[in-house]
Amino acid sequence: MTDDDPAGDWTAPGVFRSAPDVYRIPLPLPQDGLRAVNVYAVADSDGWTLIDSGWALDEARDLLEAALKALGSGFGDVRRFLVTHAHRDHYTLASVLRREYGTRVLLGRGEEPNLDAMHALQRTASDSDVSRLNRAGARELAEKIAAHPWTPPELDQWGYPDEWLDDRAVIEVGEGEGIRRLEAIETPGHTRGHLVFADDTSDLMFAGDHVLPRITPSIGLQPSPVRNPLGDFLTSLQLLRTRPDARLLPAHGPLGRRVHERVDELLEHHVVRLDASLAAVDAGCGTAFEVAGRLRWTRREHKLADLDMFNSMLAVLETSAHLDVLVERGVLAVSDEGGAAIYRRA
Ligand SMILES: [Zn+2]
Repeated sequence: MTDDDPAGDWTAPGVFRSAPDVYRIPLPLPQDGLRAVNVYAVADSDGWTLIDSGWALDEARDLLEAALKALGSGFGDVRRFLVTHAHRDHYTLASVLRREYGTRVLLGRGEEPNLDAMHALQRTASDSDVSRLNRAGARELAEKIAAHPWTPPELDQWGYPDEWLDDRAVIEVGEGEGIRRLEAIETPGHTRGHLVFADDTSDLMFAGDHVLPRITPSIGLQPSPVRNPLGDFLTSLQLLRTRPDARLLPAHGPLGRRVHERVDELLEHHVVRLDASLAAVDAGCGTAFEVAGRLRWTRREHKLADLDMFNSMLAVLETSAHLDVLVERGVLAVSDEGGAAIYRRA
């Protein structure tokens, strides 16, 4: 066990002391995009409260067990999981351990439609992403995604939580002198019911995927979509700007940043992307797919055509989200032509 080093490789397995009584446990992911997920162990009375759980994979489970052992504990000492949102790298290992150990799982109430949709997917393979791609004018991509082998979610990894957390719920961790009060703050955008957990007294924010230090989080990838996920996300960023600043404890990436400075960067990023999207519409692009084809992607400035299928989908859906924000602001108007959304100046 060592002190966390923001300059080190944040994905390296181990147990890293991030703050007094707070430990960061990076766990592996099967896809290399995000590389790892940070689970945070917070000392609780007679055990631990874990923030996020990791993906239900044998390798992740073994590393989490080893990390708890290094802290003198085991799975039976985990009192509860506070899960920031219902994505599999955050939720599924909690769901599996809950079945085996009876560990309590707490999730934001706003995620309930996503859990419901996940369970409904057992019966119908309807895919919200495919219909969103069709609306974005990306027909071919929608067909490719629809034809991609699909397995229904494994329900033992998606059990319902023991408790739905409301906005501003306060979770007391520990007792007596060392008691810690974590405030759950609804920050919809990345998913509809995403929560961050603020510990203002200790100058800490467990930010989940809402504020990531190195990348901009994906927006609105969830089984139960919402109308304007990017608009929600920007509002949720501004909300954090009105709260006390804190050290950023992200679910992906290293420590070392402050919440406010990173929120400002993310807001600025989206100002630039909204401007570029508007310029593309002014240049004659009508659908989100056409706009995405005119923009450049990733830090390496890739063209849309050079991205793989999954990243193309992310790019097109993110472009839709930007165009819908411009509609919401009255800058663009949208009409339906043969199932595709066509944008032009309002
Ligand atoms: Zn996520």
